[in-house]
Amino acid sequence: MATLPIDSRVSARTADFLTQSQRMFVDGRFVAAASGKTFPVYNPATGEILTHVPEAEAEDVDRAVRAARRAFDEGPWPRMTPSARGRIMWKLADLLEENLEEFAELESIDNGKPLSVARAADIPLAVDMFRYMAGWATKISGSTLSLSFPGDFHSYTLREPVGVVAQIIPWNFPLLMAAWKLAPALATGCCVILKLAEQTPLTSLRLAQLVHEAGFPDGVINILTGFGEGAGAPLAAHDGVDKVAFTGSNEVGRMIVKAAAGNLKKVSLELGGKSPAIVFPDADLDRAIAGTASAIFFNHGQCCCAGSRLFVHERIYDRVVEGVSNIAAGIKLAPGLDPSCEMGPLVSEEQFQRVTSYIQSGVDQGAKVAVGGGVGGDRGYFVQPTVLTNTNPRMKVVSEEIFGPVVCAQSFSDADLDAVALQANESIYGLASSIWTNDLSTAHKMAKRIRSGTVWINCHNVFDASLPFGGYKQSGWGREMGEEVLNNYLETKAVTVAL
Ligand code: ADP
Repeated sequence: MATLPIDSRVSARTADFLTQSQRMFVDGRFVAAASGKTFPVYNPATGEILTHVPEAEAEDVDRAVRAARRAFDEGPWPRMTPSARGRIMWKLADLLEENLEEFAELESIDNGKPLSVARAADIPLAVDMFRYMAGWATKISGSTLSLSFPGDFHSYTLREPVGVVAQIIPWNFPLLMAAWKLAPALATGCCVILKLAEQTPLTSLRLAQLVHEAGFPDGVINILTGFGEGAGAPLAAHDGVDKVAFTGSNEVGRMIVKAAAGNLKKVSLELGGKSPAIVFPDADLDRAIAGTASAIFFNHGQCCCAGSRLFVHERIYDRVVEGVSNIAAGIKLAPGLDPSCEMGPLVSEEQFQRVTSYIQSGVDQGAKVAVGGGVGGDRGYFVQPTVLTNTNPRMKVVSEEIFGPVVCAQSFSDADLDAVALQANESIYGLASSIWTNDLSTAHKMAKRIRSGTVWINCHNVFDASLPFGGYKQSGWGREMGEEVLNNYLETKAVTVAL
């Protein structure tokens, strides 16, 4: 059973949740894995085990898919009035909000992020996503069409749920990613199997209890804990699934596409990024320095849209790099629940190894460490916020996604915006970017020239349920959030009546 070196700072409710026997949520019931197997969940600040969770495998996946299939084909969910669906979703949002503190603590202890961030960002944004999408439930409609076909016809479209949806999520914003996936699928009338990241299952397991309390019919939402190969792969390949929605690495994204090919299920992907933050000489430099530092160091750089390539005009390059380095040097590393924490540990040992070896490869290829570069403590997975200079696009640290608190600074000299954009666009990714300037014309011209799904001007990491988010190029297929995400979960049916 679980060993429980529970952080003395957690509340009694969180401690109580951690001592419960963890269960997955399938067909409205809390269940162990069919095999009875479990695996440990670690506190990344200490490397200690927090609890154990069930290890789903093919049989559990099959049970969950059958439950979702029944709920969709026979059950009330897609047939319920949109208003009733919206009300249950709103109820879930209310319950989540009532338990915000507990969720924030669980997220912090599981993922490593500062409690203050989970409290101010992760949990409220998840609440908002359920509310925003609850509102869409009543606003999904088709259109009437004018035909040129000879004769007299009445044609219209129906927008219908795609069916049973498999959703596979990562560990960087565990509850928020669950909300990004669940909320639009539920609003459209789909039934879901959600596979959590093995590193961070806790908040969504707690969410399952609220799903039950909110009154979702059995099988509408099924939540599985397990590993990629053991649970994710059979889910992505399952013939009973109509669509798979994935957020994670490009490597696994490619596997999902292959797995989905069997029954040609629909696929949407939100993948990696190597987002440029571009600072022009006319920018408000204090704002740009603070903003580009936050662009990379927020959530320890574990954001697919992290501003990991810092492009600065040569006239202000030294000042900006020095400013960002000073901020990095002053960031307080501590366990997420420590009130002084500004940056917690990376999520896992694997991620710690990955980020530190990227830093080493940068140094080996000639990059200079302006600040950071080391590990941040004798236990836990802490890595210092790091600024690398003397970098170029041929280096792995510049071309590949690190997913850690490491920024590569480069300068540009050109006044020609096409040339600046060419440099910034030199990436297989196209997820996000930020442009720092006080010149309106530069800002909007660059916004058109950058090939990414999000462009922020004089800001970075601004997220809202209404803003579509997703990638150009190899950063993904489709969009999350906003009205646009509904397309991921809807089929369009054209109906034509001869009059
Ligand atoms: P990261 O590299 O950030 O850990 P991954 O892409 O490896 O991200 O994982 C994201 C999600 O994909 C996790 O839920 C993980 O379990 C799942 N996953 C990993 N491998 C596979 C696979 N072969 N098939 C389906 N899902 C997978």
